[in-house]
Amino acid sequence: MGTAKDQQAFRLPILGEDVASGLAGDIDIDAELRKLDEEAAINTRPGGALQTDHWYDQMVSPQFTKSQREKTTLLVSGLTAAHDYLVKGALTGLGYNVEVIDVPDNDALRYGKEFGNRGQCNPTYFTVGNLVKFLTERAEQDKLGQRDMVEKYVFLTAGACGPCRFGMYATEYRKALRDAGFDGFRVMLFQQKGGLKQATGEEAGLEMNPGFFIGLLKAILAGDVINGMGYRLRPFEVEAGATDRAIENTKRYVHDALISGKSVLAALMRGKREFGKIQLDWTRPAPRVSIIGEFWAMTTEGDGNYQLQRFLESEGAECDIQFVTNWLLFMLWEGRYDTKLRAELRGVDEAKKSLKNVQIGKKLAGLFVADLAIRAVFHIFGAAVGYRGYHLPEMDEIAETAHKYYNNQIRGGEGHMEVGKFILNVLRNKAHMTLSVKPFGCMPSSGVSDGVQSLITGLYPQSIFCAIETSGDGKVNVQSRVQMFLFKARIAAQKEYADTLAKLGLDAAKVRAFFGAHPEMASGLHRSPHAAAGTAADRLTEVAPFIGKSENEIRVIKAKLFAKKALAAARALPATIEKLRKRAAERSPVLFEQAREEWVEQRPIIVEKMKQAARAKAESFGITLPSAMAGKDRSEPTTSAAA
Ligand code: SF4
Repeated sequence: MGTAKDQQAFRLPILGEDVASGLAGDIDIDAELRKLDEEAAINTRPGGALQTDHWYDQMVSPQFTKSQREKTTLLVSGLTAAHDYLVKGALTGLGYNVEVIDVPDNDALRYGKEFGNRGQCNPTYFTVGNLVKFLTERAEQDKLGQRDMVEKYVFLTAGACGPCRFGMYATEYRKALRDAGFDGFRVMLFQQKGGLKQATGEEAGLEMNPGFFIGLLKAILAGDVINGMGYRLRPFEVEAGATDRAIENTKRYVHDALISGKSVLAALMRGKREFGKIQLDWTRPAPRVSIIGEFWAMTTEGDGNYQLQRFLESEGAECDIQFVTNWLLFMLWEGRYDTKLRAELRGVDEAKKSLKNVQIGKKLAGLFVADLAIRAVFHIFGAAVGYRGYHLPEMDEIAETAHKYYNNQIRGGEGHMEVGKFILNVLRNKAHMTLSVKPFGCMPSSGVSDGVQSLITGLYPQSIFCAIETSGDGKVNVQSRVQMFLFKARIAAQKEYADTLAKLGLDAAKVRAFFGAHPEMASGLHRSPHAAAGTAADRLTEVAPFIGKSENEIRVIKAKLFAKKALAAARALPATIEKLRKRAAERSPVLFEQAREEWVEQRPIIVEKMKQAARAKAESFGITLPSAMAGKDRSEPTTSAAA
């Protein structure tokens, strides 16, 4: 509120009044302009009075030394509850004191808005505010001063140099912490793109050595497969809460294994027993919803996306989530893509990240091997916990699919991934509905969800696509919007299931009775082959040949199916090898040359092992394969049962 004189001087013109003459009557515009010129002249001359007082980040290399480690607690947060908890286990196992900050809630958002810069994206407000909230509340609870908090805690987070606000997170944390009274609080980054070479020196408090990154990787991949089991089974559990109990136990086994340095694999296998006990009803045609969008907003499990996943499940849907592993694979794809492009500029490119004096083949081979290693560990962990049959996305395929509509060179957020995933969902019939989560204020995600995806939905009118914006205060609107689209998805899922039943000449009661009599075929440790958009329809298609058959007939059908699959795999082997060879050659010429030489040596050994495995499997079904036939492409196995 200004004084009465001010109000008179700056009176807004009344409707219909001549604006120019009205203003001219109240303000001497020339005098105002002269005043501005004079101020500018004073401020800009040497020794002038210009006082912008801008804050800048002085703490680019925060000090956390080895001697401080014993009395310092590392704070971790930012992914799902399972990931954060397991990361805590991994770091505790390396000798750090670690504490997890809870998943951000609406109070965190309020702290973020109070102390963060204006115009940030929603994930920035939530994550930054969550740290400020934790420190403020903990200081109050433990009766500690702000200086004590600064000395006692260090926050560990990921950073990047991306074009969106993710590149500014660390600075944003520090700015908000300073304004909240925690000036000098240490925010440590393990740069996403820094890799294993980021050793910080012997005396550093945080030793970012291979052990550190391997521990993190194990925690992240184990967190992914445990979450995967949860989302796969929860919509079909007979006893509410059974899946969550199994998840809690499995998380604890893995967490304890990470702390004690024992086998994570063994811990996951222990968890598999828990998941194996869950009773499931596969006759529920739950609509399958593929959640895509901005990484943090679609991954968090709290107020940041209005508990989206749990809300969908409460509405009877099955969530098809994106894993942190997918994000790691995307970063490796970025590395390969950029390296290949930049290689063409070798002679002229002198910039910081140029490939001058870099062995491009070796670099590509390293990225290729990292991609293979991550995929292999994911599947090994998955098999250990019972999470089988999941296909990690092929990043080249997603890039090629999306490229026509969203340039692969545009980065920030999920880049082209959201577009590619949506198209593949429709083309491959992977889900009944695709739900895109766009945080308020997110530049890259807005361009995709509001812009490009409208074009894609026009091209694929059969798709059910719902884009939502998470602002923190629009829960009712968002949930209501999701419900509307979910209604269509539910109808689609029910129709799909009914059509499958009709096609197979079955009814729901018969299917239910079959599962009751054959609980092993209702196990959650097995994934049915992809046949429809819904999981219930997949399982139905798989078990249909067995329904109404005697135990003996079921055994014979199983044996025949196995033999058919083995033959198909054997026939497809040369083509698969050729495909892999082409991919390897395309991704890394150096690696391919090495692999070719090794393959010549290894081939006979591998072929012999495959023959032995086929023989053993056939024998377990009571089939005897003549030793000369085992492994031959065109041989039909004989079954003693069939004879
Ligand atoms: S992708 Fe969007 S929401 Fe995520 S950090 Fe970047 S600007 Fe923010």
